[in-house]
Amino acid sequence: FKNKKVMVFGWARSGKAAAQLLTKLGSRVTVVNGDEFDAQDATYRDLLAADVALIGTDNSETLDSTYDYLIKNPGINYDHPLVQKAEKLNIPILTEVEVALSIFKGRLIAVTGSNGKTTTTSLIRDMLKADGQNVITAGNIGVPVSEVVFDLTQEDTLLLELSSFQLLGLPDIQPDIALITNIFSNHLDYHKTRANYVAAKFRITRNQNANQYLILNAEGQDTEKFKNETEAQVLEFSRTKQHFPVAFSDDNLVMTDEIVMPTKDIKLVGPHNQENILAAVTVANLAGVSKPAIREVLKTFSGVAHRLQYLFTAGDVKYYNDSKATDIEATQTALDSFDCPTIWIGGGLERGDNLERLLPNLKNVKAVIAVGETQQKIVTLAREAGKPVIAVTDVEHAAPVAVQLASPGDVVLLSPAQASWDQYSSFEERGDNFVASLKETLNSRED
Ligand code: ADP
Repeated sequence: FKNKKVMVFGWARSGKAAAQLLTKLGSRVTVVNGDEFDAQDATYRDLLAADVALIGTDNSETLDSTYDYLIKNPGINYDHPLVQKAEKLNIPILTEVEVALSIFKGRLIAVTGSNGKTTTTSLIRDMLKADGQNVITAGNIGVPVSEVVFDLTQEDTLLLELSSFQLLGLPDIQPDIALITNIFSNHLDYHKTRANYVAAKFRITRNQNANQYLILNAEGQDTEKFKNETEAQVLEFSRTKQHFPVAFSDDNLVMTDEIVMPTKDIKLVGPHNQENILAAVTVANLAGVSKPAIREVLKTFSGVAHRLQYLFTAGDVKYYNDSKATDIEATQTALDSFDCPTIWIGGGLERGDNLERLLPNLKNVKAVIAVGETQQKIVTLAREAGKPVIAVTDVEHAAPVAVQLASPGDVVLLSPAQASWDQYSSFEERGDNFVASLKETLNSRED
């Protein structure tokens, strides 16, 4: 990118990181954004000082044939007039991740899938770290690759979480180890058909060679197709089949026929997390992580914040925060993860969902606390299931009620099944407020 003229389109965190990286690499950079820039923004000021041109309109007139590259934010569609113009002018359109990966020379591990990406990526990161390896996570997990890549050496491992949107912008990616956790039919609104969605996921392995690895969920509908089409060595994992190198067998987690640890010592709960564990351990095993390091992580890893996250045990009641469950499927998964009496807190933004689909998942629920805009729907659902139900305004008020209702041996679970925007700015805020209210209630009881 040295001495190249590059336009960065989109001013999110990744656009900023791309502009900064390109400046370091010696490009002449222009940043274009649909909205005016905030003159107080620290990165804006830094870039201005580094002679970067910053244009607060995404009019296609801003682009001409003198540019060598257009760097596009993955959220911007290919039918945007400015992107279309770049295509017409034959200006290569790249993404921030692509720029960043072009300068990385170390080991690349890439994780994609419909669900479980963040959990699996976090597990792999912790396992490599516990093993003393130098690993940096980036991508969809919240840190732009351009922000971290400049300081990495050939000895480092870059662990990327990639969405299918990001993969669409990575025609040349060639991970040493690639993992696809699963492929469900979500995100079809963007990719239009399942075939397109699967093709986007296939990009993670498209350029791999026979010295590289692809890890697949053996239960996946597309697994056979992927196995036939990839050049990489394939390793599979499965929660039900036991003949894979990493598996659950006779109440133990095993790795190449040796016991890693008893399943009961693993902190993460839920069948879906068992799949995430198998996937992560398969990758860690390939990456040379020792058994004690894997054991250490699985004994303590209690879930990524807000994703069926184990919080604490108080009065022999286990508390979980699953605020990230913003759709019915996620809450079904959460409710099915427990076979003890559960006090379930549900409800949130009204988006016209049919909550009756949760009816079969309520069998272990002992009481329901209904919150948020869909409160009445949750009340109706609970009555239909013959469960006691209490309606309160929000999760802050639900916490003390849950503590009151719980008896030893119970689980208290916040898993709203709905988005948070009826009352909160994000699912993180909703989860944090719930946890704060729980702690306040429990502390005042102890006093
Ligand atoms: P992602 O990063 O792909 O969104 P997360 O690890 O953040 O995935 O988990 C988000 C939610 O997806 C979880 O709360 C859970 O409901 C569901 N989930 C996680 N892992 C799996 C899995 N392996 N299979 C099915 N659902 C899962």
